[in-house]
Amino acid sequence: KNVAAPATTPSQDKLLGGLLSAAFDESSCQSRYKSSLYRKPSPFPLSPYLVKKLRKYETYHKKCGPGTQRYRTAVEQLQAGRNADSSECKYVVWFPCNGLGNRMLTIASTFLYALLSGRVMLVNVPREQEGLFCEPFPATSWVLPGGFPEGNPMKLNVGAPESYVNMLKNGVIRYDTPAASLPAHVYLHVEQTRLRLSDNIFCDDDQKLLRKFTWMILKSDSYFAPALFLTPMYEKELARMFPQKEATFHHLGRYLFHPTDRVWGIVRRYYEAYLARVDEKIGFQIRIFPEKPVKFENMYDQLTRCIREQRLLPELGEPASPAANATGNDGKVKAVLIASLYSGYYDKIRGMYYENPTKTGEIVAVYQPSHEEKQEYASNEHNQKALAEIYLLSYCDKIAMSAWSTFGYVAYGFAGVKPWILLRPDWNKEVSDVACVRSTSVEPCLHSPPILGCRAKKEVDVARVKPYVRHCEDVGFGLKMF
Ligand code: GDP
Repeated sequence: KNVAAPATTPSQDKLLGGLLSAAFDESSCQSRYKSSLYRKPSPFPLSPYLVKKLRKYETYHKKCGPGTQRYRTAVEQLQAGRNADSSECKYVVWFPCNGLGNRMLTIASTFLYALLSGRVMLVNVPREQEGLFCEPFPATSWVLPGGFPEGNPMKLNVGAPESYVNMLKNGVIRYDTPAASLPAHVYLHVEQTRLRLSDNIFCDDDQKLLRKFTWMILKSDSYFAPALFLTPMYEKELARMFPQKEATFHHLGRYLFHPTDRVWGIVRRYYEAYLARVDEKIGFQIRIFPEKPVKFENMYDQLTRCIREQRLLPELGEPASPAANATGNDGKVKAVLIASLYSGYYDKIRGMYYENPTKTGEIVAVYQPSHEEKQEYASNEHNQKALAEIYLLSYCDKIAMSAWSTFGYVAYGFAGVKPWILLRPDWNKEVSDVACVRSTSVEPCLHSPPILGCRAKKEVDVARVKPYVRHCEDVGFGLKMF
């Protein structure tokens, strides 16, 4: 076939050392090659093995993806209720759950899973998520085509009879069931049910059985990539792909997610208007969770304590004092970018630096792109802004963020910057004693650790036995690679 060469081919630098494919036309999605120009170069070298693996995956996806005969055949088998004995193409279909941050973390985890288990990842894009992201794989699509016969969102829950764990429990499948006798698909429910990643699915026996299914449907609300690192059979491969485990999401995220031109327009306009020419950018992301509300005064107080203790912003001087004592910083501009659903934090911080000079003579400019007041999972426009703000935050040199927020995890993960985390108050308190702590890693936190030991039915603290995971600063029982 005669495949047209791209009109413009981006340079090696723009491809982030080979992380991004050169097969796209540069004009098809501006952010793909432009977004990284707003950041310092990544501090994490890329493994050539990962690059090879990605190019191989792209070929596989193109071969088996939507629009191919292979895809149609696989869907027909699914409809006929048969699992193919040995099919050339296997699929994992991602279903959405929760907000945008959660979704991005689970798409990245699902993609990693697809790479490890030889599956093509297709994404079920609901209306509120349409038009947010460019296609990540050249000359094909990652969007699950309409008319897919399985995966009624109402049925995808922990009790679903076609869930892997339930089929195993109910004797519908066994570890030694031959591929041809298996149901036509399996549902993998990886939700943090009661904050414990469901059952022992990250074990070799289970993974071997799961591999036999042509179709897998997956729903998750968690960054479950660390659980894949904890699965013995994937250990070696992952070590080659990610010699620095800390950069797993950093690389996967920068590979997969590229805002469409429409969202990129928001990002670019804002960045060029307010952030492009400043000396330093500091991002504050303030997230108040409905299930753990914190009073505005308390949150504001905690944020300013964090700013003071960690010296994130210059101290205020006397309003009438003459220009600062010569520190060499006179006139330098620090931009503060606030991401929050509410405008109160912005108003107060901006007011502070409007009414008072700084002791160093630095100028502090405070910006907040939007304040949506409340979270709206189902609104497309709302999600465009959320995505734009995740990107804007990710261009900051320093980031302070609310504990538990996947929105913040994605931003600092893209940036490759270790954030300061504004801790949640203890369950019986209204105010956190410690204002903020520095994260040990740029990896997101898995809020719900898997049960280690598989069939052993023993509780093991993963952080004690595996040298590359720690409990998260913000979620005591959570796990984070570093
Ligand atoms: P998490 O709940 O903090 O873990 O993050 P999610 O992204 O999964 O869900 C929160 C959702 O609320 C986001 O996707 C947005 O829709 C909205 N949201 C929360 N904080 C902000 C913010 O600072 N700016 C914007 N634009 N939206 C936000």
